[in-house]
Amino acid sequence: MRPDPTTLLAYSTILFLIFGLYFTAVELARGKTRKAFWYSSPFLAASVSGFFFTSPFIVPGLWGLRIGAVFMTLAYGLGWQAIRTMLGRRTCLTAVLIVCSLSLALSASAAPSGPRHIASSVFRMMIITGFHFQAARDLFCSTGNQTSAEQFLCRLIAVYTVIYGVLALSTPFLPEPLGSQPSTVWAIILYNFLVIIEGIVIALAMIAVPRERLVAEHHLLTLQDPLTHAGNRRAMNLWMERNSETSYSYVLFLMDIDHFKAINDCHGHTTGDQVIIAAVQASQKILPSSASFFRIGGEEFAAIFPFTSTSHALDIAHRLKETFTRDVKGIGDGSVEATLSIGADIRHSSETLWSDVWQKADAALYAAKGIGRDAVVLKG
Ligand code: GH3
Ligand code: MG
Ligand code: MG
Repeated sequence: MRPDPTTLLAYSTILFLIFGLYFTAVELARGKTRKAFWYSSPFLAASVSGFFFTSPFIVPGLWGLRIGAVFMTLAYGLGWQAIRTMLGRRTCLTAVLIVCSLSLALSASAAPSGPRHIASSVFRMMIITGFHFQAARDLFCSTGNQTSAEQFLCRLIAVYTVIYGVLALSTPFLPEPLGSQPSTVWAIILYNFLVIIEGIVIALAMIAVPRERLVAEHHLLTLQDPLTHAGNRRAMNLWMERNSETSYSYVLFLMDIDHFKAINDCHGHTTGDQVIIAAVQASQKILPSSASFFRIGGEEFAAIFPFTSTSHALDIAHRLKETFTRDVKGIGDGSVEATLSIGADIRHSSETLWSDVWQKADAALYAAKGIGRDAVVLKG
């Protein structure tokens, strides 16, 4: 069976139209008008391009093919803008429209063949390569943890940048639409496949990225204490699980605000919350930057950091306690007073279970409470 380029083009036109309508409907249903526009625009532009390529005769002369080509170029530029929107960056539509208009002007001034036609085709391929390069660069430079779909998208667009770069260099020798020589069936089919595969993969990635981000955000929230934004007990258990085999020595602090119920009773829960936040801030100030800190209960905290010496660990504990007591005096009218008890243990080897270290630090905390509170007790 001979491949039929027109049928193939018609299928891809319908496919892009479906993608465009899908993004419009989904984002509008979420109330995201801006995203609806940017996510759907590259696919709608590609389907307009496909329409003109399948029915170039609806406008006189070469204009059907010219309009088809400029809409295809525009689709890539809008695809780059969709990626910028997805990354939360500002769009730069003016630059896209300027280069697309220049491309159209150049092709309008060119005959169906000859040097101007070749120059116009090379220019168009260079623009498409540039749009891909910018999109890959934006994805590569995006801050924060990239989802696996974003990483895949970045790699795919980088590969397409290279493909279009090579095509731009080979434009004078290749048949249209890959180059500027008279078109052949295989060139139309190959170009169409390149476009369809890219369109499908980008659409799937654009559907996957927001979902992956949502999952990652939810996962982060399950590990975070909403009042202080410190890690919670689940986060601490995860940390211990991940570091169960570590051969480094660690110190574990368990900290508990003394007579906290009385603070709540005397000054109210809002002030109580401020005292909890003060404990977290004092810990951030005093603990080493390598420390992992968690709020494991109402007024209970845990900190884990690399062990250097017992005297160093004790010094940190005492300074933390003093800083907390001093900082609390700055809350409200200055009448709040609070102290901290700290129980600590050291994990010297990977043979020791974190649960045993925990139990010893907990016993040390009880001992600190037993000797009158506002105290540090270190086991190990
Ligand atoms: P101890 O010195 O023995 O530790 O006594 P304590 O009063 O600090 O300990 P207790 O366990 O009796 O009281 C802890 C209180 O912490 C009880 C609870 O209402 C309060 N609490 C727990 N979570 C929060 C919170 O998020 N905000 C405020 N304001 N209070 C909280
Ligand atoms: Mg407690
Ligand atoms: Mg307490």
